[in-house]
Amino acid sequence: MSQNNKGTPRIVVVGAGIVGACCAAYLVREGYSVTMLEAEEPAAGASRGNAGALSPGSCIPLSMPGMLKDVPRWLMDRNGPLVIRPSYFLQSLPWLLRFLAAGQPERIPAIVDALHALHSPVFDSYKPILEAAGAQSLVRQSGCIVVYRSRKGLDSSMGGWKMRQDRGITFEILDRSGIRDLVPALADKFECAVLQPEHGYVTNPHSLVLRIVEYVTGSGGTLRNGRVVGIEQHDRAVSVRLENGERLEADRVIVAAGAWSKPLVKALGLSVPLETQRGYHLHLPSPGIELPLPVSFVDAKFYATPMEHGIRLAGTVEFARPSAEPDYARARQLGTLASDWLPGLQLTGATEWMGRRPCLPDSLPVIGPLPSDNRILLAFGHGHNGMTSAPTTGRLIADLIAGRKPFIDIAPYRPDRF
Ligand SMILES: Cc1cc2nc3c(=O)[nH]c(=O)nc-3n(C[C@H](O)[C@H](O)[C@H](O)COP(=O)(O)OP(=O)(O)OC[C@H]3O[C@@H](n4cnc5c(N)ncnc54)[C@H](O)[C@@H]3O)c2cc1C
Repeated sequence: MSQNNKGTPRIVVVGAGIVGACCAAYLVREGYSVTMLEAEEPAAGASRGNAGALSPGSCIPLSMPGMLKDVPRWLMDRNGPLVIRPSYFLQSLPWLLRFLAAGQPERIPAIVDALHALHSPVFDSYKPILEAAGAQSLVRQSGCIVVYRSRKGLDSSMGGWKMRQDRGITFEILDRSGIRDLVPALADKFECAVLQPEHGYVTNPHSLVLRIVEYVTGSGGTLRNGRVVGIEQHDRAVSVRLENGERLEADRVIVAAGAWSKPLVKALGLSVPLETQRGYHLHLPSPGIELPLPVSFVDAKFYATPMEHGIRLAGTVEFARPSAEPDYARARQLGTLASDWLPGLQLTGATEWMGRRPCLPDSLPVIGPLPSDNRILLAFGHGHNGMTSAPTTGRLIADLIAGRKPFIDIAPYRPDRF
């Protein structure tokens, strides 16, 4: 690998969300010269306002056999957990068909294994970064509870829980009194729940990204503001071209631009079916109740997470044109639902947010070198679990750049699998 005038390989990371920040952190730890290029500001995208759940046991892909039967019911409800804006339906159809194809029974075990490999080391993978950044207090391993309105709901998802169990993931089924003892703030409207004791959460996802970026810049790395519009391949180096015409030369480039990554790699000859799934949050600064751990309202597809500054309700899925205005009624709907399920919840001072999840049809990210040029590494498409999978992605990218065998098999995430 070529080097800068201090003899250190130069690495450019495009995007300062949680994925770019974790890659940069693992690389500065190893002594590389790292420059982060961020179009807006660190955590400007999905990493800012997500639900913050850290889910080592989350390994069930979004597309599962039998899911199709639920889709019409979801789509009929404009406040439901899944919305496809009518004006975007035809454009999203090819992706949706690939998504359904990924849910064929014979494809599921390999996807579950790959998600498990990526998610299960989450706390080990965050540990060195949190210690280096002095940010340990932002991560808690509190457990997480998934609540079901009826036993029938739990029974119908038992296949997924069994797949987790087969991979050594622990959980406990709670009845009404178990739920009451663990989360007294919940209304008596849930017949059963699953407690995942090994799960946890980030108390402030925005702060976590900022703290990791501060560690990078405090350890010799650089953060620069600039939108990358192209990556150019030369014989001896690679360069990134910024919107203002400037070029920055590097030995390696990591594309970690979340939902905005697709055009950057398309221009390099690789077509990746990256789609955006929007999600919303309603953040309640004075919720008036307390939660000891994140609560996943699985039927409505959102979380209530106790955070540093209140409770955050976050989740749901919306497909829309990239330039479409956010529909904040979806965020407010989370407040309406949660008020029913968490009596006494105060919505005063609530703030709304929309974020774009970078999603691939098989629920796995792309992590690995561009097939035609291993100086360019791809790290995007972390979908619904990027806060969980980012630190392990950082470790894998550091392994690849150092020329080490990655600590887990990265074949399932290879960029040319589509
Ligand atoms: C409502 C919601 C709830 C969620 N809840 C959870 C959860 O509980 N647990 C979990 O694990 N995950 C959750 N997620 C998913 C998680 O937030 C994402 O997977 C993760 O944040 C993706 O991180 P990223 O760094 O890839 O992308 P982003 O955070 O979007 O970062 C990409 C960055 O790249 C920058 N950028 C874009 N284009 C360029 C360019 N051309 N040049 C330079 N910079 C560029 C952007 O400005 C941005 O800062 C949730 C997401 C949403 C929306």
